[in-house]
Amino acid sequence: MYQPIIGLEVHIELKTKSKMFCSCKNDPDEHHPNINICPICTAHPGTLPVINKEAVRKVIKTGLTLNCQIPEYSQFDRKNYFYPDLPKGYQISQYDKPLCIKGYLNLDGKKIRITRIHLEEDTGRLVHERDYSLVDFNRAGIPLMELVTEPDLVSAKEARRFAEELRLILRYLNVAEANMEKGEMRVEANVSLRLTQAISKKHKRKPHENILGTKVEIKNLNSFRSVERALEYEIERQTKILKSGKKVIQETRGWDENRGVTVSQREKEETHDYRYFPEPDLPPLRIIPEMITEIKAGIPELPQQRRERFKKEYNLNEKEIEIFVQNKDLGDYFEKIISEAMEWLKKVEGKAKIVKLTSNYLITDLQGLLKGLPFSEKEILITPENFAEFITLIYEGKISSKIAKDVLQEMFSTGADPSQIIEEKGLVLITNAAEIEKIIKEVISQNQKAVEDFKKGKENAFQYLIGQIMAKTKGKASPQLVNKLLKQTLDKS
Ligand code: ADP
Ligand code: ZN
Ligand code: MG
Repeated sequence: MYQPIIGLEVHIELKTKSKMFCSCKNDPDEHHPNINICPICTAHPGTLPVINKEAVRKVIKTGLTLNCQIPEYSQFDRKNYFYPDLPKGYQISQYDKPLCIKGYLNLDGKKIRITRIHLEEDTGRLVHERDYSLVDFNRAGIPLMELVTEPDLVSAKEARRFAEELRLILRYLNVAEANMEKGEMRVEANVSLRLTQAISKKHKRKPHENILGTKVEIKNLNSFRSVERALEYEIERQTKILKSGKKVIQETRGWDENRGVTVSQREKEETHDYRYFPEPDLPPLRIIPEMITEIKAGIPELPQQRRERFKKEYNLNEKEIEIFVQNKDLGDYFEKIISEAMEWLKKVEGKAKIVKLTSNYLITDLQGLLKGLPFSEKEILITPENFAEFITLIYEGKISSKIAKDVLQEMFSTGADPSQIIEEKGLVLITNAAEIEKIIKEVISQNQKAVEDFKKGKENAFQYLIGQIMAKTKGKASPQLVNKLLKQTLDKS
């Protein structure tokens, strides 16, 4: 049996105002090529780079979050290679003194070690036409963070989970948007196969002989789905090679999304091909403890902490929690509603029910109204206060769930407050017992069969009668009251 071993190299464009070494706007604006450029990021002779402090801080923030050590000294190096998207003929990167080393990310309870995180600059963008190519330098010089993991991932699914959780963390940190589809996050996956422990034991190998197999690096992964699919394909391809007694060759392969295969691109270049040397135009960086303390203080609640807190504080189920963790804005909105609603109620007994109602209305009904658009508190017209009032109206039985749907729809399109909507549209519940009893009598006389069924012990029949009564009142009768009065009437008859 072979076990997949996977290590990821992830490039992430940092969210900063300006570029890495000049004051150009950090905006790759693909519709207007070559507008965010200057002599520095287009490598005019005689220009000098200046380090973007915000970018350095964001890398350190990421490193601290991912349990990395931050060495006191860090340094930029030149990575030399020729390609038309690289105006200087070298990329300013970091080689043996990166900003962050030796960390880990806790992924579903398993530690995935992080080798290093360093800072470099992005390249320009090439646009290939039929018989010529164009180059857009808007992206050249955008701060780029590279994170490298140890080969600790053991399946395609796990590699995908790692990339997804990393992106979520970066968003919580406000370090990057990391949209893979926009190229803001680029994942390269290294994968090899090795014999599982059981087999190596059978072959009487010593532990140190249980070494890693030859790896293949997969590029051109533009979505989390491609990361998983490409790795699955590659694991199968390598398994076939090894089973037939052949050897895997170390190479770079590209993922062909349409055909669903990896294709050989080139045999791997060696590090010395890049002729790395310290960047003479930049001083080494000294990271002082005060800076680390200050950055640490700015680290917010992280996804995993939020999962644990939402479980403890609201006792939501895993599915609900994941929705409020993945969609942080919706989770924040949820929390505001709960705290407002609890104030309305002025007591704590109802909390569990309020939580359940809020969670259901946000996840099912509101998402339905949004029709697949992402939730954003800034854009939605319903304030948390109004949503909280809406929830308490349902909680206190002042509106039925049927009316609630109409009220929510109206709140969603106008932003009006729920009590006003109820009043204006005459949606106030019928809470007058006499009025409801009159309707109950009518329904009973028209549905004798259901009444008999109920007496024979059919619970469905009871629900059926409730339904008839609610229909007659157009959903305006108080459900609690209908329930109570119908029971009384049936018991008496
Ligand atoms: P290279 O020198 O080829 O760039 P590195 O040692 O720098 O290789 O590792 C690059 C990435 O490949 C890292 O994420 C690392 O975890 C991963 N990696 C290294 N060896 C293997 C292997 N045998 N199988 C799978 N991944 C590996
Ligand atoms: Zn510039
Ligand atoms: Mg390497």
